[in-house]
Amino acid sequence: MLEPNSGLSERYSSVKASLQKSIKDAGRADDSVKLLAVSKTFSISVLEEAVACGMREFGENYVQEACEKIDFFRAKYSELKLTWHLIGPLQSNKTRSVAERFDWVQSIDRLKIAQRISDQRPDGLPPLNVLIEVNISNQGSKSGVQPSEVLAMAKSIKSLPNLRLRGLMCVPKPGQTEAEKLAPLKAMKILFDQMNDQGLEFDTLSMGMSADMDEAVKSGSTMVRIGTAIFGSRDYSKKGIPNG
Ligand SMILES: *Cc1c(COP(=O)(O)O)cnc(C)c1O
Repeated sequence: MLEPNSGLSERYSSVKASLQKSIKDAGRADDSVKLLAVSKTFSISVLEEAVACGMREFGENYVQEACEKIDFFRAKYSELKLTWHLIGPLQSNKTRSVAERFDWVQSIDRLKIAQRISDQRPDGLPPLNVLIEVNISNQGSKSGVQPSEVLAMAKSIKSLPNLRLRGLMCVPKPGQTEAEKLAPLKAMKILFDQMNDQGLEFDTLSMGMSADMDEAVKSGSTMVRIGTAIFGSRDYSKKGIPNG
């Protein structure tokens, strides 16, 4: 049943309040930044409480875990319009489950994956919204497309029939100081504007997590992805090693 949980509800309200404050301080319009609740590792019953608190858009990282949640809510609460974003890595063997269920995939970093989800998107569903994940902090091991390769990939993705390319996403290397946090976020905003100058008509710049939400809003983010500040810290021990 949909029972609000008071701890969750308080944390969610306080995240919404600090987001509004950041937006105001940045001199931006009230509704210019969307709040995505990142629910990875949290159970279906926690998600039911989250829905009772008013959350409707969820970010998930692990395909199988996410599919179970999506199927549960579509079956049990079919009247609810929830929006599901994949924000974690996507391997080729999982593209079909994603194409059949998700509303957004924010972690596109290979053209091959984009082609597969476009091919596998069922008829009758709207185009899948996608973002290109950019490796903005230039860490060898992290996923994401190099900034210099974004334009070419964007043009290719634009031609895929069942996808709607909406913009860019990044997970910068965690910064300690405000200046360290701001540098990659500002670089993303410059790249985003350059892509729009090239005619790509992007409307979504997904950046900002619990630790850098304010800096992301200052830098021009249009969607912050908040997990810990809403749900509390994650316990990975119950899940083994998350690998999608
Ligand atoms: C886990 C995750 C988040 C949320 O991070 P918090 O620090 O818990 O807010 C946001 N984006 C991505 C891609 C993530 O994997």
